[in-house]
Amino acid sequence: MTVKVTFAGSGDAFGSGGRLNTCILVEAPDVCFAIDFGASSLIALNALDIPHNKIDAILLTHLHGDHCGGVSSLMMDAMLSAKRETPLTIAGPVETRAHLPKVQEALFPGSHVMEPKFSVDVIDMDVLVPHDIRGLRVTTYPAIHTKATKPTSMRVEVAGKVIAYTGDSAWTEHIPDVARGADLFISECYFHEKRVPFHMNYSDIKEHAQELEAKRIVLTHMGSEMLDAQDRVEEECAYDGMVIEL
Ligand SMILES: [Zn+2]
Ligand SMILES: [Zn+2]
Repeated sequence: MTVKVTFAGSGDAFGSGGRLNTCILVEAPDVCFAIDFGASSLIALNALDIPHNKIDAILLTHLHGDHCGGVSSLMMDAMLSAKRETPLTIAGPVETRAHLPKVQEALFPGSHVMEPKFSVDVIDMDVLVPHDIRGLRVTTYPAIHTKATKPTSMRVEVAGKVIAYTGDSAWTEHIPDVARGADLFISECYFHEKRVPFHMNYSDIKEHAQELEAKRIVLTHMGSEMLDAQDRVEEECAYDGMVIEL
């Protein structure tokens, strides 16, 4: 069974290289879901001619705007223009249920009075236990990133394939478990050589390469320094619109 992965957005928080915020769309025979949905992700889907009504579930790694900030735009459009009728499931780290309405009201003041005509199920996922989300098996792992964003790495089993993603994180002891046996392991790689807290650079990935037992590795969330260096690295690097079939 083919699982199609589209990097609708492969950029960092600040649009380095003109790239859009993180949104990894996965289309499987029985389910369509997005891993992360940043502030620009609705624009990204529209640019790719992908109707957002087809998304059954949105899985959020953490609560930074470049990973969850587009959910409110999707919700507003689903209610006003796209006329969504099918259920939507949104699953993220602890506090997702409390956080998303605050984001929506901040961006679209007064919108709290609007009632969607479709069912919306928002789920807070504890780490290190598998969750059944619309038939997907989703397991999250503690990540090392801005603590208030409740950061996680994520492993999703869908149609017999495994897609794993570090989310935004420095290297953690859990990342080998996240990556193990994955058909696709997506790793953030914010910088090439520069070191910053709460993120990985390319040296971190090389240093731990032996521990990453995935079938395919793709680097994403690159800042400008890493974008300048991407032609010199052997790993695959994501770009907006990149499609991978598993
Ligand atoms: Zn980010
Ligand atoms: Zn982040």
